[in-house]
Amino acid sequence: MTSPPIALSIAASDPSGGAGIQADLKAFSANGAYGTAVLTALTAQNTQGVTGIHAVPPAFVTEQLDTLFADVPVDAVKIGMLADAAIATAVAEALERHRPRYVVLDPVMVSTSGHRLLEADAVTVLRDRLLPLADLITPNLPEAGDLLGTAAAKNRAEAIEQAHALLDTGARRVLLKGGHHTHDAESVDILVDATDASDSGFTELSAPRVNTRNTHGTGCTLSAAIAALRPQHDDWHTTVSAAKAYLTGALRAADTLHIGRGHGPVHH
Ligand code: PLP
Repeated sequence: MTSPPIALSIAASDPSGGAGIQADLKAFSANGAYGTAVLTALTAQNTQGVTGIHAVPPAFVTEQLDTLFADVPVDAVKIGMLADAAIATAVAEALERHRPRYVVLDPVMVSTSGHRLLEADAVTVLRDRLLPLADLITPNLPEAGDLLGTAAAKNRAEAIEQAHALLDTGARRVLLKGGHHTHDAESVDILVDATDASDSGFTELSAPRVNTRNTHGTGCTLSAAIAALRPQHDDWHTTVSAAKAYLTGALRAADTLHIGRGHGPVHH
């Protein structure tokens, strides 16, 4: 009897089903992992935006994590929306205690619709406490800028520079997602790995840009697919390539779904 890898999403709920733990659980299943989830917050949102956030008390985030880890052998963790500094700290402390094999950190900060999903003063906790615990961080261009305290990269050269600067702040590996360069025909992500001595410096992972307004949950889906796939692949590079191929398929299928009047979800 074989059992699938067990993936854990530490993230928030999106009632519209496109982002957050709802997206993560779909991406886990679709990529061959058994999905578990610890909630950090509820959001009230639809495809048009977020109207409110109800954060889980940090002690109860801790209780969820300790109870789960006491019984379930989690192989890979994906960290998404953390809402505030106290929750980010609780998650860091729990991961320091339980030390799961693989940790992917999606430094979620602001929704596409412009709502803050992480309080501004929590960025320091993310950088100082969670970044060193992560095997891979998956910022988009604005998030990389926020982590570095600078403006988002405007071109490829700046993006490569910022990916390396994130390694200097203590990240082990960085997948800097170039999807916000909307004028490009290709969606090019940059992967840098501080632990790979043979690395020529960085790898570019390119996928054709998919033209759809249904992009809600793109980042959640990618980081969850990476967490699901990492125990099933030999290294990070093949894992990230496979996850990116999965996301491209979900984006290509997105227009076959008609959910809400705003930015609809990608289709798993
Ligand atoms: N809501 C939740 C709970 C999320 O975790 C995220 C992103 O991680 C979002 C909303 C934002 O999704 P998007 O920017 O794709 O609309």
